[in-house]
Amino acid sequence: MKLDETLHRIELIQGDITRLKVDAIVNAANARLIKGGGVDGAIHRAAGPQLAEACAKLNGCPTGHAKVTPGFNLKAKWIIHAVGPVWKGGVANEKSLLASCYHQALLRTKELEAKTVAFPAISTGAYGFPSDLAAKIAWKTVLSFLSSNVIPNKVIFCLFDSKSYDIYASIQKELLKGN
Ligand code: ADP
Repeated sequence: MKLDETLHRIELIQGDITRLKVDAIVNAANARLIKGGGVDGAIHRAAGPQLAEACAKLNGCPTGHAKVTPGFNLKAKWIIHAVGPVWKGGVANEKSLLASCYHQALLRTKELEAKTVAFPAISTGAYGFPSDLAAKIAWKTVLSFLSSNVIPNKVIFCLFDSKSYDIYASIQKELLKGN
């Protein structure tokens, strides 16, 4: 598939991922899949207490992998819990683990036949991954996956703060320009 067509399947939004009406949202979860802070806390609050019960049955999730629960009270049908790496200065395989986390989440969308999926900026909050580097990895992994898969049809990067949104937007601009 041409880069141009692939780029048009990726959309940027600034806001709260819990409010999106998509087939699946991705959670920046922790390896124990227990309710945390940040986007994970917001998703648990919005999905309701059934989410914690469903997560407890999954036996955790290794870093770089992703597991699925229903969306419960969310508009999204599914939640894909992806576990990003904690930034340890770049010496602990963090880049590959973050790429794997996006790739695994995308594989789950394919299995679920989820046509639309929204990602937060995984690992860039409490886990301390540098935002610029994380955004490059997110773009690269998603573009590569979409170029050879028809599902998901659309990927939304949902950025909470304007700084993250600007980083994603400047990468998008460069990609569109170079095309
Ligand atoms: P991690 O532990 O993987 O770093 P965090 O939840 O701490 O996860 O942060 C990941 C990103 O999610 C941060 O950029 C943070 O600003 C963002 N975030 C926090 N709440 C929301 C929300 N409701 N919707 C979308 N993104 C959010």
